Amino acid sequence: MDKVSDHPAESGVTTTAVAPQAAGSFRELGLSAVTLAAVDRAGYTTPTPVQAGLIPRALTGIDVLGQARTGTGKTASFVLPILERVLQPGREGGPRALVLVPTRELAVQVKDEFEKLAQGSKVHCVAVYGGKPIKGQIDKLAKHPAVVVGTPGRVLDHMSRGTLSFSALDIVTLDEADRMLDIGFRPDIEKILRRCPDSRQTLLLSATVPPPVQKLATRYMRDPEILDFSTNELAVETIEQRYFTVDPTRKFDLLERLLDRENPRQVIVFCRTKRGTDKIHDKLARRRSRSSGEVACIHGDLAQSVRDRVMRQFRDGSTRILVATDVVGRGIDVSSVSHIVNYDIPEFCDDYVHRVGRTGRMGREGIAFTFVTPEEGPQLTRIEMRIERLLQRDELEGFEAFDRRPKPAPVEQLPTGGFERAAAAATEAPEVAEATDAPKRPAGLLGKRGPKRHRRAL
Ligand code: ADP
Ligand code: MG
Repeated sequence: MDKVSDHPAESGVTTTAVAPQAAGSFRELGLSAVTLAAVDRAGYTTPTPVQAGLIPRALTGIDVLGQARTGTGKTASFVLPILERVLQPGREGGPRALVLVPTRELAVQVKDEFEKLAQGSKVHCVAVYGGKPIKGQIDKLAKHPAVVVGTPGRVLDHMSRGTLSFSALDIVTLDEADRMLDIGFRPDIEKILRRCPDSRQTLLLSATVPPPVQKLATRYMRDPEILDFSTNELAVETIEQRYFTVDPTRKFDLLERLLDRENPRQVIVFCRTKRGTDKIHDKLARRRSRSSGEVACIHGDLAQSVRDRVMRQFRDGSTRILVATDVVGRGIDVSSVSHIVNYDIPEFCDDYVHRVGRTGRMGREGIAFTFVTPEEGPQLTRIEMRIERLLQRDELEGFEAFDRRPKPAPVEQLPTGGFERAAAAATEAPEVAEATDAPKRPAGLLGKRGPKRHRRAL
């Protein structure tokens, strides 16, 4: 099984760390007048550091690998160079640019960004992804779009039907590369890349660069320049991060009380399983809202047309509470999300980072709550080690969890000082709770690797 560690490792390609500089203006990046006008219309006044670093390099035609956390404007950093490239004359007989993304929602979102930034030029973009009848996509592809955005499986499908040719490609982009590998797209991606013209330019964007991503870059990119915009602090600074210790049977009540207390502008409630997501959604919808549509849910078992509608309504604000699996945990950008609730603690540390990254977009403020059952203390600690930051304990009256173990070990005797604090905090004795508010952690723990995570489907 492909194992992907939570940390970038030290093998393979050399990385250039790029200090986030005060970005100048889009005018200094080498973009054409048409593109600059579209950027203006999109309301982007200053390039983000990723954009300031990536765009001028990509415009020279070299391969670039950009590592940056979520919400830093990676999409426009490849969309703009692609637009410039396809505005130049090129080969015929197929699209000029291909963007591969891990999820259907992201395909739609990236296509929307293309459309937003291609206004004023005649560049046409089509999204192809599974779960939608292939016929409509074939018709769209037959109209010779310059840009195709798609999930690897569906892109391959079109290729084998002969409805999508790679022969005219000038530029190929892998967005969220870590995620694509993580969910098992490696063979598809390799098949696609092997069929792309050797002369193509390749851009790769990823929040993390673990060894599998490095391998892909080594094998399929030409002497890539690697730009590292990641900082040690993985989750955005503007996001406040808290946790509740809660008995598993009381999680739903806690959720309701928390939603009442917080009254979020928009919130995503993350659950671990599709069935769990449905259950929480149904209960919330039944109990909370008389105004229909306020609560919605999204996961991989829903028909694609439903998923598209749910995302649209969440984006336009008519849905306020979205209950979701990690299918929307990555890449999806809805800037008015003010709250994240991890109803189930994420199984993998990187998923925590990505879920939480759904709020606090572009420097806005956000808050994330994680529900931790007494048994899940070690998972919380692993997350904290990963983000090198302690989550703040939060409490709602009447929701102190009960520890079913007969005798909890006193905090100071716990082997790591922090490892089992959720369990310890779950006792009824207030002093224990107090003692665990700011657990002292041996310095050596920080920076230590988290557990390996395994490939799995969403
Ligand atoms: P990432 O892919 O790094 O997670 P996105 O590309 O989804 O981030 O961008 C996050 C949000 O920031 C989007 O809503 C996008 O429209 C907005 N955005 C991107 N670039 C700029 C910019 N230069 N100025 C203002 N907003 C921007
Ligand atoms: Mg992105």
